[in-house]
Amino acid sequence: MGEEKKDIKSLSLAEVTEEFLAMGEKKFRALQVFEWLHKRSVTEFGQMTNVSAGLRETLEKQYKLVSLREVRRLASAQDETVKFLFALPDDKVIESVFMKYKHGNSVCISSQAGCRMGCRFCASTLGGLERNLTASEMVEQIYRIQELTGERVSNVVVMGTGEPMDNYDNLIRFLHLISAPEGQGMSLRNITVSTCGIVENMRRFAEEGLPVTLALSLHAPNDEARKRLMPVANRYALKDVLAACDYYFKKTGRRISYEYSLVAGENDTEAEADALGKLLKGKNCHVNLIPVNPIKEREYKQSSFKNVLNFRKRLEKYNINVTIRRELGADIGAACGQLRKSHLDLSEIQGEEA
Ligand code: SAH
Repeated sequence: MGEEKKDIKSLSLAEVTEEFLAMGEKKFRALQVFEWLHKRSVTEFGQMTNVSAGLRETLEKQYKLVSLREVRRLASAQDETVKFLFALPDDKVIESVFMKYKHGNSVCISSQAGCRMGCRFCASTLGGLERNLTASEMVEQIYRIQELTGERVSNVVVMGTGEPMDNYDNLIRFLHLISAPEGQGMSLRNITVSTCGIVENMRRFAEEGLPVTLALSLHAPNDEARKRLMPVANRYALKDVLAACDYYFKKTGRRISYEYSLVAGENDTEAEADALGKLLKGKNCHVNLIPVNPIKEREYKQSSFKNVLNFRKRLEKYNINVTIRRELGADIGAACGQLRKSHLDLSEIQGEEA
């Protein structure tokens, strides 16, 4: 058995350069190839027209060129949200969402195929973790969406399937690649990484010197309620998670975004709004309220709109900046892993019938 080919799209320019020099190629060739990969997002070495046929052949032999295949596309009839189901090179499937906002186009990417965090209301975690995504598979979600929609993407949220702090090294690699000036040159300030609160990696992330926005999935104002919704809360006490957020703010100067999915009867009372207000009062932060998207595998229900508005009003009394997340693409199951889950369910049924 031959050695597995290296994934050239996950390598930094410095790494490609080092490999090229080691095989006797000129330095500027590395830059040319990196640009083909990350600026023009080609999917075949043959498309690299200013690279000699000889070098293209060598590349073909030594490296694989990871690209994603579109399996399904769902466009919302209500807004311009488009949801993509992509197949990875090993045929596992992931989903990514394209959203249009006044301030620019945004893509929500997955960081893992499946997830092992087990949040009770989330569809992405129902089948557990299949595997981590490589950095190339993360950038590819953006590159393919730009190609398929013909639109430029300026913002990225790492809020799709998976826990980015559970795939730390590939996440960091992804952030360097997508912001490389020789590639897309995306501003790190336009990128948000969302975590369920893995404390040691949040602290490590604060040390990276990357001006990325950190979002914390809080979902409850105390440990007891949080443990009911998020198993990860058994591992990390809320006070340690919040201390890690403060540390992130101190190190990066980036305001933390707290995500709070409102679930009827679980975390949406006035008392809970007050407790949350007291917890976050005085912090330079932002709270994003998300009316929970019910999934068929669980009983959870969305808080009434009146409750959501009331929750916001109570929080604002503590001088906290609050937004209610607009439900883009509600008609296409754009919530958190639902398209991937329904696709997997369907393949299972078809598999049984065959
Ligand atoms: N693992 C990361 C990122 C992925 S989830 C995290 O936990 O932050 C992105 C956000 O969507 C999280 O805040 C998550 O708790 C929330 N979420 C997941 N399923 C949801 C649902 N059905 N309704 C509302 N929010 C949901």
